[in-house]
Amino acid sequence: MSRKKILHIGDPLLRAVSHPVKKFDLRLAMIVRDMGETMYGADGIGLAAPQIGLMRRLIVIDLYDEEGLRVFVNPDIIKAEGEVSLTEGCLSVPGRRGCVTRPELVTVRYQDIKGNVHELSAEGLLARALQHEIDHLNGVLYVDLMDYEVFEEEEEEEEEEALPQASEA
Ligand SMILES: [Zn+2]
Repeated sequence: MSRKKILHIGDPLLRAVSHPVKKFDLRLAMIVRDMGETMYGADGIGLAAPQIGLMRRLIVIDLYDEEGLRVFVNPDIIKAEGEVSLTEGCLSVPGRRGCVTRPELVTVRYQDIKGNVHELSAEGLLARALQHEIDHLNGVLYVDLMDYEVFEEEEEEEEEEALPQASEA
């Protein structure tokens, strides 16, 4: 197992479009393990493969709930509804946070680590994390979409609306 270096904003790989995963083999399992370790090591709730320089359509999310590590291979948003503004952070944009307006509910079609196809409807933090991570696969960062930058003081005042502190993805 090894923890990988997380690329930061300014790195051109974060702006590239990732390629679909085609092989569901042992190497994929090893990449997922490394991504999990890298995400946990950085106290994140999500990580996309391009954030460690791997241009593959692969994301991991852990909301520290009973689900544990969630893996989404070749994820696509097939349905989006509603609208909600929430504070986001990103492991590739250290030290900054911003308010981003996105759909409130999403349905995602994805493959698991064995290549089986699933659909998942999500709301709340999971819906937000999925959209944030899938954006990474298309070279999009939350700072491209944010309504405004959120600073520490402001965030404390709006604490009830803000996501948990460890919400960097
Ligand atoms: Zn991110």
